[in-house]
Amino acid sequence: MEYDHILIRYGELALKGKNRKKFVDKLQQNIQHKLTDFPDVKVKRTQGRMFILLNGQAPEPIMDKVKNIFGIHSLSLAIKVENELETIKEAALFALTNAEKINTFKVTVKRINKGFPVRSQELTQMLGGHLLSNTETFTVDVHQPDIEVKVEIRQEATYITSSVVRGAGGLPVGTSDKTLLLLSGGIDSPVAGYLAMKRGVQIEAIHFESPPFTSERAKQKVIDLAEKLTKFGPSIKIHIVPFTKLQQRIFQETPDGYGMTVMRRMMLRISERVCQKENILSMTTGENLGQVASQTMTSMNTINEVTNYPIIRPLITMDKDEIINISHAIDTFDISIRPYEDCCTIFVPKAPKTKPKKDRVNYFESKFDYEPLIQEALEGIEVIRVSDQNKAEDAFEGLF
Ligand code: ATP
Ligand code: MG
Repeated sequence: MEYDHILIRYGELALKGKNRKKFVDKLQQNIQHKLTDFPDVKVKRTQGRMFILLNGQAPEPIMDKVKNIFGIHSLSLAIKVENELETIKEAALFALTNAEKINTFKVTVKRINKGFPVRSQELTQMLGGHLLSNTETFTVDVHQPDIEVKVEIRQEATYITSSVVRGAGGLPVGTSDKTLLLLSGGIDSPVAGYLAMKRGVQIEAIHFESPPFTSERAKQKVIDLAEKLTKFGPSIKIHIVPFTKLQQRIFQETPDGYGMTVMRRMMLRISERVCQKENILSMTTGENLGQVASQTMTSMNTINEVTNYPIIRPLITMDKDEIINISHAIDTFDISIRPYEDCCTIFVPKAPKTKPKKDRVNYFESKFDYEPLIQEALEGIEVIRVSDQNKAEDAFEGLF
């Protein structure tokens, strides 16, 4: 006897009314996509249930991949057997004795197939007795059992499950359109990307680099971060923008600690053009209220002036320790703290304005025609696609 199915539960989706079909189709597609390395493993749906058919494949590596997929509420290993009493008993015993670190159990029976000759209550007692008389250390606890051995008798077969593993929650990636994630090498932006994905948003990333002030390793950091995020969704396209010339010019032309404000506005202007080109309807950043000079309310208001696109800021009200906890959980923390400089840390003025005024910024920007440099940066964008399986799959240039 062995586990041959994984049962997928998708709680929140049930609430989504007529969008439900779209969500469930997308979820099934995302699961299938994650499991392309396992050609024998199939994903199927019957009557509001989704199952993975293992077809001889060991469950652990599949479980590991699937538990990161957004839209899944919980998962259980399941055994499918014929609607036959002795086999059901045997499978229930297998489920109990294969569970780890448990002392108490409870049996529940759901008899959907009313043609099955033993009624639920009677079967519950029968199975409980069978489990107790074939094991030594377990006891029954109907109120707070360590595990529940669940037996569901359906028309086509009986399914037996025990332990429940928590899924990643959220909504299937791809059900809420796309966003352009401004991805630096820091701690915050990958966490912001993760949280956007959790609500079903697919991401593309944009990164501003300033070689030779930023190194090849700083770029690698961003690629590695994006790759971590692909654990939770499909492959990610990264737009790497050559920002050196523009950035140097900004800091030459802009006095009074306003350089950083202008730089941020340029980042948004370029990001908006990329959004237009790629048909993306929003941007996402790792901004967090009050963290640094560019993230005061005044600063955000002044920076935001250059775009009408919605900017998703999932971390805006979080505490740093909450953000760090998530970055550990999604395994981006160790990459983020690698000590390579990004373009912002290098060019940051000694005393950036914490209350940059719009009229001042607009005046400074009007003194120089940045458009040709913006165009040049756009034309120099390098696109790298990363996916869960391969690192940088392919790179191609000259999008604009
Ligand atoms: P992070 O930890 O994400 O780097 P941060 O706390 O360092 O954020 P800032 O440096 O003010 O904060 O950056 C704010 C946001 O601007 C980042 O979260 C990111 O979304 C975006 N950003 C900053 N630098 C870059 C860059 N070089 N390329 C792309 N986006 C960037
Ligand atoms: Mg940063």
